[in-house]
Amino acid sequence: MILPPATLGMLGGGQLGRFFVNAAHELGYKVWVLDPDANSPAGQIAERQFCVDYDDYAALDEFARGCAAITTEFENVPAATLDYLAKFVPVRPAAAAVAICQNRIAEKSFLRDNDFPHGPFATIRSEEDIDVASAALFPAILKVARFGYDGKGQAIVNNREEARLAFGHFKHESCVLEQRLTLDYEISVVLTRDESGNARCFPTGENRHSKGILDVSIVPARTSACVASDAEDVATRIAEKLGYVGTMGVEFFVSRGQLIVNEMAPRPHNSGHYTIDACVTNQFEQQVRALCGLPLGDPRAHSAAVMVNLLGDLWYDGEHYREPDWSRLHAIGNLKLHLYGKHHARPGRKMGHFTVIGEDAARVQEAALAARAAIGIGHE
Ligand code: ADP
Ligand code: MG
Repeated sequence: MILPPATLGMLGGGQLGRFFVNAAHELGYKVWVLDPDANSPAGQIAERQFCVDYDDYAALDEFARGCAAITTEFENVPAATLDYLAKFVPVRPAAAAVAICQNRIAEKSFLRDNDFPHGPFATIRSEEDIDVASAALFPAILKVARFGYDGKGQAIVNNREEARLAFGHFKHESCVLEQRLTLDYEISVVLTRDESGNARCFPTGENRHSKGILDVSIVPARTSACVASDAEDVATRIAEKLGYVGTMGVEFFVSRGQLIVNEMAPRPHNSGHYTIDACVTNQFEQQVRALCGLPLGDPRAHSAAVMVNLLGDLWYDGEHYREPDWSRLHAIGNLKLHLYGKHHARPGRKMGHFTVIGEDAARVQEAALAARAAIGIGHE
C-alpha cells in the first residue's frame, strides 16, 4: 500500500487530473502533474508541475524519481512513455491497456476478438480498403484511429465517394469506418478495478450528446435494470480482459434494443462527474485508491443526479466575450457548480459542469434542465 504523504504522479493536466489532485489531497497525498501546458487546470493546484512534452525522457526520469506511483488522465499519452516510467515505479493503468483504448482500430479489434458486442466496422488504411468495405456499412461514420475526441476527427459518409473524400480530408490517416447505428439512447458505465481484480461499478448513467460532445448525464439511466446490469457485466469483463487497474469509462449504444459497446476511455470519464456529488466515493477517489493499493470505496449513489456540461460557447454573447452569470445557477437548490480554472473559453471547450442532486429523479431532471436553460444553453 502506498500511504500518505507519498507523492503521486499524474500524466496530463486537464480537468480530470484536477479532480484527481483534489481527491489525492483529501486523502493526504501530494501530486506532481506533467503536462506541456503551463496553465493546465491540474497543474495549478498540484505541488509541482512539469511543463514538458510526454517524450522528454530527462524530465520523465526526474518525475519517476519523485513519484511513488503514476497514473494518467489523458488517453493520448504515448504508450512508450507509460512503458518507460513503469521501469521505475508502478504505472496504473499499464501501457498495454491504454494502447488499446487510444487507437480505434486496436479498440474495435479487441472488442471483436473477445466477443464483446460491437457495431459493424471496417479498418481503413488505404483507398482500396474503402473500395472493398461492405456496402452494408453505409450510411457510415469515418473516424480517425488516433487522437479523436468530442466528435473531432469524424465525418458522416453516406457512400463510398463521400468516404474517399473524408479519408482525403483526414490526410489518409488510418481510420475505422463504422456503420451509422440508429440509437435508442446512450449509456455508460464507469468502474474501478484494483490490483487484485476486484471491480466496482458506479451506477449506469444515460448520456445525451450535442454536436458530438457530452451534454447531459442522467443517473439513474432511464433504462431497464436488465440493460443496466448487462452493461455493468460487459464493462467489468472488458476491464478484466484488459488487465486494467484504475478507473475507466465504457460508452455504450442501445440500438434497436441491443446493447453495443461504443468505446472505452482509460481514465475517469466525463459521464462519471456526477459521482463527485452523488456517490459515497467518487470516480477520482477510486482512481487514487486503485493507484495506491487501498481498498476500493463504496460506489453507491445516495442521490439521483443530472450532470450538465458547461462549454466555452457560454462565454460568447454573439461576438461579445463575457463571464456567464453564475448567480443564476447558485439560485437553484441542490445544484453543485464545478469550474475548471481554464484561462480562455473556446467554443466546444469543456470549462466546467454542474450537477443537480435530489431524491426524486424526475424532479432532479426538471431542475437540471431548467438550470441549463437559465444559464443560457440552447436546445440540443
Ligand atoms: P468521441 O471519442 O468523440 O467521444 P464517439 O465515437 O464516442 O467519439 O462519438 C461521439 C458521439 O457520436 C457518440 O456518443 C454518438 O452520439 C455519436 N456516434 C458515434 N458513432 C456512432 C455510430 N456508429 N452510430 C451512431 N452514432 C454514433
Ligand atoms: Mg465517446
